[in-house]
Amino acid sequence: MPDGISDRPEEACGIFGVHAPGEDVARLTFFGLFALQHRGQESAGIAVGDGSVVRLRRDMGLVSQVFDEQTLAGLRGGDVAVGHTRYSTTGSSSLRNAQPTLLKVPTGTIALVHNGNLVNTHSLAETLHAEGVEFDSTSDTELIGRLIAREAAAGLDLDRAVIEAMRHLRGAYAVAMITPERLLAFRDPAGIRPLCLGTLNSGHVVVASETAALNVVGARLEREIDPGEVIVVDDRGLRSRTFEGELRGTMCVFEFIYFARPDSQIYGRTLHLVRRRMGHELAKEHPVQADIVIPVPDTGWPAAIGYAEESGIPFGEGLIKNRYIHRTFIQPHQRLRDLGVRMKLTPLRDTVQGKRVVVVEDSIVRGTTSGQIIQMLREAGAREVHMRISSPPYRHPCFYGIDTPEPSRLLASKYSVEEIRKIIGADSLGYLSIQGLIRAIDVDEDRFCMACFTGTYPVPIPDEARPGKHALERSDAAR
Ligand code: AMP
Repeated sequence: MPDGISDRPEEACGIFGVHAPGEDVARLTFFGLFALQHRGQESAGIAVGDGSVVRLRRDMGLVSQVFDEQTLAGLRGGDVAVGHTRYSTTGSSSLRNAQPTLLKVPTGTIALVHNGNLVNTHSLAETLHAEGVEFDSTSDTELIGRLIAREAAAGLDLDRAVIEAMRHLRGAYAVAMITPERLLAFRDPAGIRPLCLGTLNSGHVVVASETAALNVVGARLEREIDPGEVIVVDDRGLRSRTFEGELRGTMCVFEFIYFARPDSQIYGRTLHLVRRRMGHELAKEHPVQADIVIPVPDTGWPAAIGYAEESGIPFGEGLIKNRYIHRTFIQPHQRLRDLGVRMKLTPLRDTVQGKRVVVVEDSIVRGTTSGQIIQMLREAGAREVHMRISSPPYRHPCFYGIDTPEPSRLLASKYSVEEIRKIIGADSLGYLSIQGLIRAIDVDEDRFCMACFTGTYPVPIPDEARPGKHALERSDAAR
């Protein structure tokens, strides 16, 4: 493996891009990134193209920590911009991995933002390295950029260069990219990570990981960028081109369950409503006699409302979340992870004391969160605790950009539902079935990647990406 190419995924990040001559594109991007903060809290960055150069500001921290009036003033002017929020894992907390990635290539300067993960990073990097290509950083994003630059240097227009690059890329990538005067955006042929397209009043173009980021800048959702589609926007308008290979459109189902904001839309469905229907299905599949239904905030809310609606059991708030603590899942050591749950969530004794409680959570990965919650609810006086999970058992690692622990740490990869119930200490435990999940989303099953539940990967996983080889070795250290 050439120096400087990392073996770690890019994680589920948030990306944003805009082409809006005459507008403050940096500020629009800043607002868009605020709406995508939940997709990554490690680092944030914005690059702006003003017709002749690309200016960049990126740093570790939340969007509000990286940008203020002064830093935004340094990015003022310009016609195009891209921005990024990066998901946090400890092993990779380095500015080098922050995005946008700025590259000086033979055709000029480009800046890229990427959400997803390639599964053939190593072999691709080796190929490029053998051709004499040098790398500055440690990311898939640079690899994608260098590959596009190689095709563009051979004389292709940028959109064709992207299509040529796609022939070599394997895995998940939703990318936005700027030159000093153009915005490009493209998605992998399987469309695993989301990317949508919107317009501002004046006909300006915005692309974003989630529709919530369009709303915040006042853009109207036009459509999703199709799997394998490349769009280019410049002063001649918007052009689109599509990869000629196989296009299967298998969106990550976990976006529906957990990642994307409840007010975002994917496949034309608002996720809050879909998650509520997951709660309906869960109540049908796993009914129980109980006094109150409570969510694990925040992602458990809609499914808990749905469970209460369907079951007729009253809904209540039994866990209060400290909103200044970020996702506990990312702590590097188990002890910190345990403490993290207690810092984040506090049971409301008045709600749960003496009650038979149904607690609704979106997923169990290692069982840390569920186990701690059940213990806390019992300490607060709950008489019974029935855990309901609005997704099927999470059994297999993700290779496409959702950071998962080493497979042996995935509780459901080793234990039956009954064993997991005992481990987390619940009186009963019920997971939503795949059929129930699909009924709730109401889109054909073959339009999803559900590899984390089924082990069937829509884009084949070469050995180089498998645990024990490269990609997942870092996972457990990072978690
Ligand atoms: P665990 O505590 O390891 O069982 O993880 C489950 C908790 O982490 C749940 O509260 C989920 O909402 C959350 N979660 C699930 N998947 C992820 C992920 N890929 N990244 C961050 N948090 C997650």
